[in-house]
Amino acid sequence: MSTNDVVFGVDVGGTVIKSGTVDTDYSLLDRERRPTGAGMGTDVVFNNILESVQALRSRLPEGSRLVGIGVAITGIVDDVNGVAIHSENVGWNNMPLRSMLEQELGLPVGLGHDVRAGALAESSMGAGRDHSNMMFIAIGTGVSAGILVDGRLVYGDGYAGEVGHVNAGLNEPCGCGGSGCVEAIASASAVARRYSRLTGIDVEGAKEVADRVSAGDASAIQVWNDAINALATAMAWTAGVVGCEAIVVGGGMATSGELLLAPLREQTHRNLNILRCPEIIPAQLGDESGCLGAAIIGWDRYRGDAI
Ligand SMILES: [Zn+2]
Repeated sequence: MSTNDVVFGVDVGGTVIKSGTVDTDYSLLDRERRPTGAGMGTDVVFNNILESVQALRSRLPEGSRLVGIGVAITGIVDDVNGVAIHSENVGWNNMPLRSMLEQELGLPVGLGHDVRAGALAESSMGAGRDHSNMMFIAIGTGVSAGILVDGRLVYGDGYAGEVGHVNAGLNEPCGCGGSGCVEAIASASAVARRYSRLTGIDVEGAKEVADRVSAGDASAIQVWNDAINALATAMAWTAGVVGCEAIVVGGGMATSGELLLAPLREQTHRNLNILRCPEIIPAQLGDESGCLGAAIIGWDRYRGDAI
């Protein structure tokens, strides 16, 4: 590997594909954003991934050599075999995306889950870098986690970290068809939806509910506390099972800062009784964590020490 080698990290979100050129020091040298095209068919999404790659390739920094690509996607992902198993949003259904991209691009391509990619990035260059036992939980339109145990990311055939679809005890229908899921109570969209249903007042999103919590609105506080309780249950169980030293909180809800984190910390620690209480801290890489994590996957694939 030469110092002029670069990879592309491509984070395929539900709405936007965020990609970038990343060097051996994990500096982002170039960025590219374009719509995912979710809902327009997987062919369109596949094509948009290719176009993101072509755009970055067309303006590679002078003298640099593209050696691999890492792609992080949403949904249930088999990182080890490079298969997009399922995504409600994008429409993946057992698609061998890694080999399809390698064939099309003629380069080593690593495929991973977007939140596990975020966990990789936060654990190597973000808020979790001092911890070999950590969980990165993304609380945005959905709720999902990436977990490192003894410094190793846990895959579980693509099912590890899916704390968003565990029943947290409330009778609340979830988009997955289940009921009481953490995601149905604590995701940013769930918080906004539950507040509107309770009060009949339309809100823009969870941020507006957070503002109403600060202003002392009893209904907003109730919805917010339900979200805290659901998340604290999931986080305490995860920490109890795998021994997290740190829980790094990212995603849209994390922009509420201590309004979310302080009660979450208190409730999670209370749930853990005598057990080691993890630090509960905000993510540091913002919405670049998926792209940087995808780049890590790309480097690993190129070096051949991929999962
Ligand atoms: Zn669910």
